[in-house]
Amino acid sequence: MRYRSTRDAQRLVSLATAVLKGLPPDRGLYVPERVPRLHELRGRSFSSRSFVSVALEAALPFFEADLDSDALEAIVEDTLAFDAPVVPVAPGISVLELFHGPTLAFKDFGARFMARVMARLREGVDDELTVLVATSGDTGAAVASGFFGVEGVRVFLLFPRGRVSDVQERQLTTFGGNIRALEVDGTFDDCQALVKEAFVDDDLTDRLTLTSANSINIARLIPQTFYYLRAAQQVGDATFCVPSGNLGNLTAGLLIREMGLPTTGFLSATNVNDGFVRYLRGEPVRAEGALRTLSNAMDVAVPSNLERIEWLFAGDRGALRSVVEGGAVDDRTTLETMARVHAEHGYLLDPHTATGWTVAERWRASHPGRPVVVLATAHPAKFPEAVQSALGCPVEPPEALRELTRREPAVTSIPADYEGLRALLAPSDASRPG
Ligand SMILES: *Cc1c(COP(=O)(O)O)cnc(C)c1O
Repeated sequence: MRYRSTRDAQRLVSLATAVLKGLPPDRGLYVPERVPRLHELRGRSFSSRSFVSVALEAALPFFEADLDSDALEAIVEDTLAFDAPVVPVAPGISVLELFHGPTLAFKDFGARFMARVMARLREGVDDELTVLVATSGDTGAAVASGFFGVEGVRVFLLFPRGRVSDVQERQLTTFGGNIRALEVDGTFDDCQALVKEAFVDDDLTDRLTLTSANSINIARLIPQTFYYLRAAQQVGDATFCVPSGNLGNLTAGLLIREMGLPTTGFLSATNVNDGFVRYLRGEPVRAEGALRTLSNAMDVAVPSNLERIEWLFAGDRGALRSVVEGGAVDDRTTLETMARVHAEHGYLLDPHTATGWTVAERWRASHPGRPVVVLATAHPAKFPEAVQSALGCPVEPPEALRELTRREPAVTSIPADYEGLRALLAPSDASRPG
């Protein structure tokens, strides 16, 4: 498979270029030159296959020209060291638990896979790889966990000061080693803009091998298709409700649907940063600063994957609307949902998943009898403050989180302007005359 920019169908690049460059020079996003089709994604023979086997089938057409199938199988196996179970919670509503990885959020799937693909593509190359990640919370931890201790790679995590939860901040700042945490005096959109600026800085990219590890990287997007297949194995045709920020998760769902996943459609849940919901209504997406919410990994004003969704639907918003409906949920309702679902069903949702649950419930009111699978994007223990406000009592942290409080954090503060970041990435620059 070769890859192209969303903005240029003519120029094709290799997998290595798409993955290691991260972004095409025209500021579009990399997409595959065509969408492959899978077969037999229904029935008992499909349901009884292993997670690794169905994931490998989805991955093969994208990677087989560049990685041999044993290497790809090893990467898939290594990535999927944990399952994605569907848990029935209420009549007609179940959750697909995507938080059983090391950082307790769905981003572990994409980040673990991408780190392993990058390492494989760079085997035998000497110079150091610099990975730049803007994170609104969970991405950074998942990417850092994927790359931690990988030789020849250094990772810079940029996160907005004071806008990630305490647990998230601990996760971001306690790796050490080849992982460096940068606290930016600004919003997540500022962090994202800084990363984008580094990539179009020719002088910098001449001197460093830079790559991005956000949901914009194609090697993160593809493995996010795997758990939709895993869900279909367990429940057959369903409507998926996806808590949405940068829309990587939803884009992966729409991609695997295009590849043949049987589904009755998608719901996209946002918090009050409802740019995508407005987009579905036919309104323009406004590039205003994102508002802070309890579901902070979804505090995104302009979703970066929107261009890929437009590519999948050839820009036809009507066609998109026939597959995806959207809904926005404010913080008060998010807390109410967390409290109610816990009281009525004994299941604790994290604030992101709670936005999805709320939208699923609203939709079912007008579509009775239609089952919905809500993607549970994070473990509630990552958001103890929200759980405390919703339930009035704390949540028991799993061992992975308790371990963090025993480590020493390290963080560097930078302003939200590019020079500060540049000086850190290429320090010798500072002493250059001129
Ligand atoms: C990143 C994240 C989201 C949003 O996912 P996108 O792919 O950016 O739309 C939702 N929930 C949690 C917990 C996340 O970490």
